Amino acid sequence: MKDLHKELQQRKAQHLYRSRRVSDGPQQPEMIIDGKEVICFCSNDYLGLANHPEVKAAFIKGIEHYGAGSGAAHLINGHSRAHHALEQALAEFTGYPRALLFSTGYMANLGLAQALVGMGDTVLEDRLNHASLLDGGLLSGARMMRYPHNAAEELDTKLASRTTGEKLVLTDGVFSMDGDIAEVPALANICQKHGAWLMVDDAHGFGVLGANGRGTLEHHGVATADVPIYMATLGKALGTAGAFIAGSDELVETLIQKARTYIYTTASPPAVAEATRASLNIIKSHPELRGRLKNNIHYFTSCCEQTGIELTNSQTAIQPVIIGDTQTTVAVSEQLLDQGILVTAIRPPTVPEGTARLRITLSATHSHAHIDKLVTALGVIK
Ligand SMILES: *Cc1c(COP(=O)(O)O)cnc(C)c1O
Repeated sequence: MKDLHKELQQRKAQHLYRSRRVSDGPQQPEMIIDGKEVICFCSNDYLGLANHPEVKAAFIKGIEHYGAGSGAAHLINGHSRAHHALEQALAEFTGYPRALLFSTGYMANLGLAQALVGMGDTVLEDRLNHASLLDGGLLSGARMMRYPHNAAEELDTKLASRTTGEKLVLTDGVFSMDGDIAEVPALANICQKHGAWLMVDDAHGFGVLGANGRGTLEHHGVATADVPIYMATLGKALGTAGAFIAGSDELVETLIQKARTYIYTTASPPAVAEATRASLNIIKSHPELRGRLKNNIHYFTSCCEQTGIELTNSQTAIQPVIIGDTQTTVAVSEQLLDQGILVTAIRPPTVPEGTARLRITLSATHSHAHIDKLVTALGVIK
């Protein structure tokens, strides 16, 4: 048996030790975390729906009707009317024939790759893809190839080198640690040329990008027919929990037959599906929430420019401040916390070595006064 104590000590010495903070109360910009009042700039609750009164009311009503738990997997007797209605609403909203719910985004990504490809096939991934896409590719048993970030031409070359087997290309829609948007039109073209599946994981685009909040495809004006597999999570902009994969009738039926993370797990509570349907309705009927988020992104980036704080060219709610060195990044994050501002330090292996960063995320619920405080604090430290 290896010495776990020693391994943990080594991690601490390398400033790579991870620990949790305990929050009291709902997700919102002002929170009590570890007993201290802080303004948070690290949540994925981009539109403030995690604590929205209509979403909470739908959740409570769902519990009254369906009880707390689903009781079983979807293929046993855990698939409720609530799940079914949400799947139909998601299919209609995204413009795909069908959508299938998964209990988490991580599981959706593992299940998809394993259901579609295996030995003799190839999975191609952007170098900066989310860990769940990488793990999905590895678990599938297919050969894994990674292409440089957003480099459609290199993908073209790599696809051309694979002459046999199925080819599955996986990409984040909005890159989770960088905030930039995948070049979906170029990727879709190349995938069509090589007869490869393209899957876009839109965890950070769904609900926020595009005039109607339909996400990265709407942002680019790409037709659903050009992206055969669309995945998004429900625990970020939608403020609840879970995920879905949208695609053709045949794709969804294949996942129901074969995706192990769909088959061998308990369905999420039906009330979560009811709450998510309420979130989706808010996304459809309140475009001003996206407007407020956009305004906050613009306000933050222009304040940083005036103060001389260097940002990347991200146009989304994810605004990284790249620091590079792990130890300095952790120290800066601690200094911010001393000033009552919570921004998490993101370190390797979550991001490549030498690119440790503060990952700032903005929400429609932040006020300009919150953002002023953040920019002032960053300006003092920079
Ligand atoms: C958060 C995230 C996931 C995982 O989704 P969960 O529902 O939290 O498991 C998958 N892909 C991307 C790009 C993500 O950001």
